[in-house]
Amino acid sequence: MTPAANRYDAIIIGGGHNGLVCAAYLGSAGQRVLVLEAAAAPGGAAANVEFSPGFTVSGCAHILNMLDPKVSRDLNLASHGLKLSLPNLKTIALAEDGRHITFDGALATNDSLQVYSKTDKANLADLRRLLLRIGKLLKDFYGTVPPRLGTESWSDRIALAKLGWAIRRLGRNDMREMLRIAGCNIADVLNDELESDLLKGAIGFDAVLGTELGPRSPNSVFSLLHRLTGEANGIPGALALPEGGMGAVTRAMAAAAEAAGADIRTGSPVARILVENDRAMGVALETGEVIHADIVVSNADPKTTYLKLLGPQYLDTGFVRRVKNIRTRGTAAKLHLALDGLPEFTGLDAKELGQRLLIAPSLDYVERAFNHCKYGEYSTAPAIEMIIPTVNDAALAPQGKHILSAVVQYAPYELKGGWENARDEFIDTAIKTISAYAPGLEGRIIARELLTPRDIEEKYRMPGGHWHHGELALDQLYMMRPVPGAAQYAAPLPGLYTCGAGGHPGGGVMGIAGKNAADRILKDGKSR
Ligand SMILES: Cc1cc2nc3c(=O)[nH]c(=O)nc-3n(C[C@H](O)[C@H](O)[C@H](O)COP(=O)(O)OP(=O)(O)OC[C@H]3O[C@@H](n4cnc5c(N)ncnc54)[C@H](O)[C@@H]3O)c2cc1C
Repeated sequence: MTPAANRYDAIIIGGGHNGLVCAAYLGSAGQRVLVLEAAAAPGGAAANVEFSPGFTVSGCAHILNMLDPKVSRDLNLASHGLKLSLPNLKTIALAEDGRHITFDGALATNDSLQVYSKTDKANLADLRRLLLRIGKLLKDFYGTVPPRLGTESWSDRIALAKLGWAIRRLGRNDMREMLRIAGCNIADVLNDELESDLLKGAIGFDAVLGTELGPRSPNSVFSLLHRLTGEANGIPGALALPEGGMGAVTRAMAAAAEAAGADIRTGSPVARILVENDRAMGVALETGEVIHADIVVSNADPKTTYLKLLGPQYLDTGFVRRVKNIRTRGTAAKLHLALDGLPEFTGLDAKELGQRLLIAPSLDYVERAFNHCKYGEYSTAPAIEMIIPTVNDAALAPQGKHILSAVVQYAPYELKGGWENARDEFIDTAIKTISAYAPGLEGRIIARELLTPRDIEEKYRMPGGHWHHGELALDQLYMMRPVPGAAQYAAPLPGLYTCGAGGHPGGGVMGIAGKNAADRILKDGKSR
């Protein structure tokens, strides 16, 4: 047994942002907490990496649009160094001829839209208000532990009644609209309301970022609503860039956890969750070291947690089947370019290059890009989200140099013929695609790095390289996330909990899953 002085109340497997948030809440409640992170630094998919000497980029997540304001306040992240380098990041939907459309905050457009349509501005404003109202309803349920279905418990019944009442309170029109669009695909919704291809392409791409969906897939409305539950600087649905990259956000979370008394050990991959007398009682590291605790909390995704770290022998076969069936095929690749100067984009001035730039000129373009990936091919004309963080934050690169950080869709997890033979071709394809909007980009590149979903899986221990640790779809949501029987952050084994993006409410750098898991653990106390 671990000597009493080294014994922890809780061990958290994984120091991703949700693990750090959970540690901070448990530590603040007086628990002795140990975070064990496999990588050399905490932060998970929201840590910084130096991908070329002197060039530091946000490893996967690069835009802050989902961080829960309550989590940020409770952990006092500002006092731990979190600052924004750009509090309200605009989105520019690029047109090859320079007639771009600019979004200010969440889907708010300016007169740039008038070039394309006389009616889109007013229609988009109506659609935006509806989506934000429904997004607000979702958000109200994000910060709570989902209820269990069909139990005798009063707290579950009350939670379900609150959900029903919140939907009822939307009013007849919004309720009807919500039911109408929830099962629809985003392409149909946009085609009903809007005219401009460029506008619809940009919104359609936002709806499928990080998912295995195209704009004509069911669930694509829901994934847009999920994005719109976020906020930045108090503006619903808005986006921001943190000073120092996303790594600065997770460094502030790690500092908050340590200030609350948590110990964080990096370079410490956990090999197994230990079980004794039918309850989790500690972990064994890959080195063979054993550490005991009253409870174990996993920030790893559900497949890794249940099938690898715990093992099917402790679970019933129906549960194991459900976990195996969680859809985790990633389609987003991350491209990092080190540049010897600021590139030029047709129709944009140097300051505008600090905003978020999208290549998604129409719904058909995005859907065609997705088509390839259904058949194990990469897109030959990919949809791309880019930022050049060094425009607002010069310290991330050597003086006068720049970084282009891009999410490139679609890159399937399983590529016919394998990624090793195709990696360079796909990088060239992405660069050629961007160059149509930024002639001369190629001549500025000094170094390049591509992370395919397979690389993301290996480097960040996310199966399938999936952004959300599991597709965000109606059958994998709320009291069904990750699977029925484990959707309240408690595993079907006493003493074991989960706190990562695979649980409610899903992925994005929100911190809510970590907070909700801590709430559940503290509520259970010693009873579980
Ligand atoms: C390409 C890409 C781009 C993205 N862009 C954005 C974006 O711009 N904005 C945004 O908000 N979100 C973005 N996301 C999503 C976001 O990164 C994730 O949803 C979020 O990081 C999930 O946080 P987490 O703490 O739950 O899990 P993770 O960040 O995955 O952290 C889990 C941690 O557990 C550790 N771990 C796993 N197994 C073990 C083990 N056995 N032992 C010890 N440690 C272990 C891992 O090393 C990791 O550090 C992006 C994701 C991807 C893949």
